Amino acid sequence: MTTTDWTRATAARMADALAAGEVTSVELTQAHLDRIGQIDGPVHAFLHIDAEGALATARAVDEDRAAGKELPRLAGVPIAVKDVLVTQGLPTTAGSRILEGWMPPYDATVTRKIREARMPILGKTNMDEFAMGSSTEHSGYGPTRNPWDLDRIPGGSGGGSAAALAAFEAPLAIGSDTGGSIRQPASVTGTVGVKPTYGGVSRFGAIALASSLDQLGPCGRTVMDTALLHEVMGGHDVNDATSLPEPVPGCVDAALVGARMDLTGVRIGVVKELSGVDGGFQDGVKQRFDESLERLRGMGAEVVEVSCPSFEYALAAYYVILPSEASSNLAKFDSVRFGLRVEKDTVEKTMLATRAEGFGDEVKRRIILGTYALSAGYYDAYYGSAQKVRTLVQRDFAAAFEQCDVLVSPTTPTTPFKIGERVDDPMAMYLNDIATIPANLAGIPGMSLPAGLAPEDGLPAGFQILAPAHEDARLYRIGAALEASLTADWGGPLTAQAPEVTA
Ligand code: GLN
Repeated sequence: MTTTDWTRATAARMADALAAGEVTSVELTQAHLDRIGQIDGPVHAFLHIDAEGALATARAVDEDRAAGKELPRLAGVPIAVKDVLVTQGLPTTAGSRILEGWMPPYDATVTRKIREARMPILGKTNMDEFAMGSSTEHSGYGPTRNPWDLDRIPGGSGGGSAAALAAFEAPLAIGSDTGGSIRQPASVTGTVGVKPTYGGVSRFGAIALASSLDQLGPCGRTVMDTALLHEVMGGHDVNDATSLPEPVPGCVDAALVGARMDLTGVRIGVVKELSGVDGGFQDGVKQRFDESLERLRGMGAEVVEVSCPSFEYALAAYYVILPSEASSNLAKFDSVRFGLRVEKDTVEKTMLATRAEGFGDEVKRRIILGTYALSAGYYDAYYGSAQKVRTLVQRDFAAAFEQCDVLVSPTTPTTPFKIGERVDDPMAMYLNDIATIPANLAGIPGMSLPAGLAPEDGLPAGFQILAPAHEDARLYRIGAALEASLTADWGGPLTAQAPEVTA
């Protein structure tokens, strides 16, 4: 293998090669930095690249390995970090102009865990401003492009992380999922993304969008790679009051079991309301979903149909709850504490001018919606009703999980759409997350993995798996089984079929 070929390897393979002395972390890290240098102009997955920091970590890992020190499994494997996570000494913007130039004085818990795992951080990835969006077009720094077709969106809000994986700029990445921002980008880029159980990964130092919905999670090109990263990120944290006390679920072991492709006794529920029965789902996306289901059945799983009637109202409830929480979370960007400051003659005018200039249109839209929904006269009618719907969604899940071990659906209704196509139509943008949002309302874990390319446009279609809270391991078992079956036919991960990006 030449040095540059390493960018095509899985993270698991890189870890093994490092341990076996086949390659050094400096070589791996440099190969990815070179790749970023070659193609990130057009892809624009990164907002900030830290070549020096990444290579310094890599060198230290290589030295310790040479000295015979024991190292964590992923030590020396490079990673890209969504710009929603605060990183000491590295600029952090959450995709917003209001935080341009802000240098966090501390590390998020997940950042700290990545550093403790000795993984070189390649840089910070692009995202929709404050994670609001499904296309990365709402970034204050310009859109990211989908490596499968540069005229198309890479999903959002974590489009930068997903594009970095699909373009072989990084083998692993961090995402955050409030309504689908890990799973939807994974779906449209042919990669794998996991939203853990709410509380399974610390949110300390993750710039909040909607605190009761936000969850950080792993992104990779294979199920095993996300499992390895999940185990690095997860676990209890005293700094996050919503952090679960339980240890991290056994994701890697579950993925190993799944890869044996025996699903005897596993019950899989197809959610009627999420499988496109009422239209709106692209034919090729449905087709790949149905074929994947057939494969699972072929491995011994029993497939049943389940109904979750309140899911019809999940999107509407989400777009009341999310803006309400966001309007409160974003109040701290007041020109005094962080980032941008547009100086005027009074404090009020300074705040107004700073927020008017620093926030983009989508952020302003949600702040207005949220403050309205929370205002005294409307609180019960909007926020109160939305919370009731949330309870109904949770009950639907509870009932469904009595009939089956996991639930499945296509991750997104369509393959990636064209840049510019939906950016001025908020409803069209919001509808991308119709199948991902219920999981966030209920706090349950979900995974998206590639189901293949839609025949009509040759673009990636995603398969979503949902499990009960705390049962993240089930995602890895079922996901690894499906992946093993599909990649046996494809001859490797779906991303290997992506066309070469030309600068
Ligand atoms: N696309 C959804 C939204 O705009 C989800 C965002 C997210 O998960 N961060 O709210």
